[in-house]
Amino acid sequence: MNYQFTSNLQQAQQLDQEDPLAKIRDHFYIQPGQIYMDGNSLGLASKEAETALLKMMNIWKTQGINMWDEYFHYGLELGAQCATLINARANEVLITGSTTSNVHQCISTLYQPTAERYKILVDDLNFPTDRYAIDSEIRLRGYNPEEAVKVIPSPDGKYIDEDAVIAGMSDDVALILLPTVLYRSAQVLDMERLTKAAHERGIIIGWDLCHAIGAITMDFQKIQPDFAIWCTYKYLAAGPGSIAGMYLNQKHFDKQPGLAGWWGNRDDTQFQLKQNFEHQKDVSGWQIGTPSMLSMAPLEGTLKLINSIGMEAIRTKSLKITAYLMYLIDEKLTQYGCKVGNPREDSKRGGHVCLEHPQGYQISLALKDRNVIPDFREPDVIRLAPIALYTSYEEVYQMVDILEDILKTKSYEKYSAKRGLVV
Ligand SMILES: *Cc1c(COP(=O)(O)O)cnc(C)c1O
Repeated sequence: MNYQFTSNLQQAQQLDQEDPLAKIRDHFYIQPGQIYMDGNSLGLASKEAETALLKMMNIWKTQGINMWDEYFHYGLELGAQCATLINARANEVLITGSTTSNVHQCISTLYQPTAERYKILVDDLNFPTDRYAIDSEIRLRGYNPEEAVKVIPSPDGKYIDEDAVIAGMSDDVALILLPTVLYRSAQVLDMERLTKAAHERGIIIGWDLCHAIGAITMDFQKIQPDFAIWCTYKYLAAGPGSIAGMYLNQKHFDKQPGLAGWWGNRDDTQFQLKQNFEHQKDVSGWQIGTPSMLSMAPLEGTLKLINSIGMEAIRTKSLKITAYLMYLIDEKLTQYGCKVGNPREDSKRGGHVCLEHPQGYQISLALKDRNVIPDFREPDVIRLAPIALYTSYEEVYQMVDILEDILKTKSYEKYSAKRGLVV
């Protein structure tokens, strides 16, 4: 979309006044004086999340074991509220486990290698935990990851080439796992095209939505992937280590869960505690053990808030505020050696902007000292995520102003380039 931006403060304030989501900011705990640009790593706490957590605490306090009467299906109920974000069917989405454990669950269920078809296809830019999980699943089946994992290399270390991925879908590939939005460059992959290409070749395909859910719109009823997994602490702002999400296409409900546990047993016989396992024939059959209720509750709060707004409105603001940030970078910061390192087209970029600079790490430290919270990803990317729910245009303006000062005065030079524990 074409916006008419200018680089003055009045326009930033005007954009805030016209922003239909401006008031949502009041639902979040924003630290006075701080500009938070890291909501794509850990979303800020909302009042809704807090209320939902305290409510769950109170239910435990007052009901003890009786709480399960009401909350037995909580993972599936929260899943249904999450399903609306990706337009999936309610019984295909479950809140359970962590992203990584859900990769294991989906791969161990759907990876059914044969002598001819045994490879798993991946890219080389995805967040590495997905790869670690895939390599270990391959080893568990007696294959060597060096041979059985088919890696489609990025041509430039930044973006995934979709044509190369499709060209790599050979007859020996059994399963594919790809990110929907790349965690570093914010590239959005065409899920529909790639899923269709995989299915035409008889390949199972799944998606990692960690940087996509809550940031971009997706239509799972149209795309019909086999599985997807995601975390809920980034754009969904459900708290540090909050319980993750998993989508399993209903066509797989008859398959045996790869990692079985008693919470996946059929509802009507679960408490008969028999020695033989029969799974529930919806996604809740893929639960393993007792759900972590206190780590799930905040998600109920944020999903309520997000569903009251709708993903269309969230994506519209996200596209506009990231376009505004890119505009200001182009106008004010390129002269100091900064570059926008994410795709510029609306359909190709996710919810964050990549600011590239050879001294990116030191600049990110200088930003923190000025009370701006960015995050840094090797080798030179400062990720800046203006979050549709709580970031204002004026904050984006102020942040670029601070960056300009840091770059102009080279104040970043006094910081060591030696990396910390959590960069
Ligand atoms: C954040 C992220 C994860 C995190 O996995 P956890 O199991 O929640 O620690 C996994 N994959 C991607 C693509 C991510 O961005």
